[in-house]
Amino acid sequence: MRIGYGWDSHEFKSGIPLKIGGVTLPHNKGLGGHSDGDILLHATTDALLGAIAAPDIGSLFPPSDLQWKGADSVIFLQEALDRIRAAGYTIANVDSTLILAKPKIGPHAAAIRARIAELLEIPEDAIGLKAKTPEGMGTDNAAIAHVIVLLEKRHKLKQGSSRPGKKAAEKRK
Ligand code: MG
Repeated sequence: MRIGYGWDSHEFKSGIPLKIGGVTLPHNKGLGGHSDGDILLHATTDALLGAIAAPDIGSLFPPSDLQWKGADSVIFLQEALDRIRAAGYTIANVDSTLILAKPKIGPHAAAIRARIAELLEIPEDAIGLKAKTPEGMGTDNAAIAHVIVLLEKRHKLKQGSSRPGKKAAEKRK
């Protein structure tokens, strides 16, 4: 098993859509950043990459690279998924905490969990999502995400092992 942890923050800016967990939320500001500013997908990407000791999101998709300007963060998440699968792992579960003053996440939590489940191809009950307000932190103009993931080694069936009785039956002949 492997554990992975990711963290991200972006600043609220006017005139851009707010994307969290691959879902566009109704709000008068969005999150600035070189891509679409999706803190939850960025933190999840880093958690997955960290679990297999792969380079982090900023190394794989440098903010200085113009091709990632305004990019859909699903691209980053997909790369991390491909890497953990190539390393022989599947996701056991994901837990996350969002910290932001506005908007309220509660009404959108089900949609966000459903979208993350779809993207990671795991059941919704394997995805935790909590939201907190940044009491006393002075970060009302930012949104923060913490994500932790647990990976399990994929059980590979050895050739012929899907029919364990076959060899024994042959030996008996
Ligand atoms: Mg980010």
